[in-house]
Amino acid sequence: MEVVQTRALSKVYGKKSAVDELSMTVHEGDIYGFIGKNGAGKSTALKMLCSLAAPTSGEIAIFGRPVTDSVSRKRTGILIESPGIYPGLGAEDNMMQKAVCLGLVDGKKKVRELLSLVGLSDTGKKKTKQFSMGMKQRLGIAMALLGSPDLLILDEPVNGLDPEGIVKVRALLQKLNQERGITILISSHILGELGKLATRYGVIRDGRMVQEITAQQLEENCRDYLHVRVNR
Ligand code: ATP
Repeated sequence: MEVVQTRALSKVYGKKSAVDELSMTVHEGDIYGFIGKNGAGKSTALKMLCSLAAPTSGEIAIFGRPVTDSVSRKRTGILIESPGIYPGLGAEDNMMQKAVCLGLVDGKKKVRELLSLVGLSDTGKKKTKQFSMGMKQRLGIAMALLGSPDLLILDEPVNGLDPEGIVKVRALLQKLNQERGITILISSHILGELGKLATRYGVIRDGRMVQEITAQQLEENCRDYLHVRVNR
């Protein structure tokens, strides 16, 4: 089943074409690595998938429904740019704020379960301003999971993390995919950051989809994709 499908999706800012007729498909159970250098159009595309930016033209279906549909929104957890975290509160209080907004009946139980899942149970009263970037990203992922989504959309969640932070986030995402069946769409400007995480890749350049390939194809034709091994 197609979880995310776009057809000729475009976004123009003034005269700048940020996303240009982008077509992509993320299937149920995929960890889809959305790869492209800085400015390639990843964030703009993901924002449109999360209904945070309106397309100039083109189509988007999430779980076969329009992106603005309440069912597709409910089934999607998002972590775009920096997670919306209150720096003066601890992990649990941050989570509870969102749980209350979502009207979760068993909020506290769910919050504690998710904090344990992302390895942040033992942070106690420590304020999030004292958290490492990796801890903040894992908290952001826990917050994105509060609505029990079937799809997670993550924009550069490992960007700027130290190697240990990257390994932890990668392991967490793998666990969410394998044990909870969550489909994951994750962007990065460094292919190597995703390691062997993704099962499929979409390579975007100048707003256009260059190619969609499986992890196996990528490994077999590594040389053809060296251009996506780009840093800032
Ligand atoms: P990065 O990782 O640096 O965010 P990206 O691949 O996510 O890169 P986008 O942020 O989507 O790329 O940007 C794609 C292009 O669109 C860039 O040239 C950017 O300057 C431009 N752009 C993005 N948002 C806006 C905006 N709100 N107004 C004008 N131009 C924008």
